[in-house]
Amino acid sequence: MAKQNLVPAGKVKLLDFDPNYTGGFTKATARAEESKLEERLAELQERLYAGRQAALLIVLQGMDTAGKDGAIEHVFDVINPNGLRVANFKVPTSEELAHDFLWRIHKEAPEKGYIGIFNRSHYEDVLVVRVNKLVPESVWKARYEQINHFEHILAASGTRILKFYLHISKDEQKERLQARLEDPAKHWKFNVGDLKVREQWDEYMNAYEDALSNCNMPYAPWYIVPANKKWYRNLVITRTIVETLEQMNLQFPQSEDLSGVVIPD
Ligand code: ADP
Repeated sequence: MAKQNLVPAGKVKLLDFDPNYTGGFTKATARAEESKLEERLAELQERLYAGRQAALLIVLQGMDTAGKDGAIEHVFDVINPNGLRVANFKVPTSEELAHDFLWRIHKEAPEKGYIGIFNRSHYEDVLVVRVNKLVPESVWKARYEQINHFEHILAASGTRILKFYLHISKDEQKERLQARLEDPAKHWKFNVGDLKVREQWDEYMNAYEDALSNCNMPYAPWYIVPANKKWYRNLVITRTIVETLEQMNLQFPQSEDLSGVVIPD
C-alpha cells in the first residue's frame, strides 16, 4: 500500500491506496499535531492576506460523505474568515451550461491574498458528467488537457494549487449514510439521489483514477487523503497546506517608517 499522499506520476490505481491508513497516528496524537499546525496555519494565512502577493486554491473532491464539508469546517476554523472564500459547485444552472465548463469556475478563483476553497470543482466535468454520459466522450476526454491549461494559467499568475481527493472505502460510505439515516438531525444531509451515485461506485473510481492521473501537474498536484478516519484526513490536509504556505516564503508588506509617529491625545 502506498504511504505517500502525493500522487506519483503515471497511472493511479486507487486500490493501491488504503483509506484506513493513519501514518502511525492515533486520534489523540493526530489531534495534538493538528492543533500545533493550526497555530502556524493562522500565522501564515495572516502573512498571505497582508502581503497580497499570491493566492492559494484548494480543490476538494471525493464521493458523498467523504468529508468535504467536514474538512472545511475543521481545517479552516482557525483562519481569519476575511481571507477565505469557499465556492460550492452544484449542478450547473442553464446560464452556466450555456458557457464553457470553466466559466463558472474561473470566476471563483481566489484573488491574491486569499485562500479559495472549491467544494467540488471543474473535476465534476470529468466525473459526474462522464459517468452519467451528460456529454459525448470526445467532449469530456478533451477536458483533461483543458483543465491542465486552465490550472497552468492560474499558477502562472501567482496561485498555488493543491488538490485533495478524499479517499473513503465503499464500506465506510455505507456506515456514514446509515448514520445519517438514523439521525433526524442529519436528514438534511441525506439525499436519496446519492444512492444512485453509490451504485455507480466502480465507474466513479475509474473516472477518479483518470482525473488523478491525467491532471497531476507539478504546478497543480493531487493528493490522495486517506479519509476513513476523519482526524487523519484533517491532519493530512492541514499539514499539506502548512508545508505549502511555508514554501511560498510569504512576507508582510513593507510598511512606512513609523519610528517618529506619535498618537495625538
Ligand atoms: P454536496 O453533495 O456537494 O454537499 P449537493 O447535494 O447539492 O451538494 O450536490 C451537488 C451536486 O451537483 C452533486 O451531485 C454533483 O455531482 C453535482 N454537480 C456538480 N458539478 C456538476 C457538473 N458540472 N455537472 C453536473 N453535475 C454537477
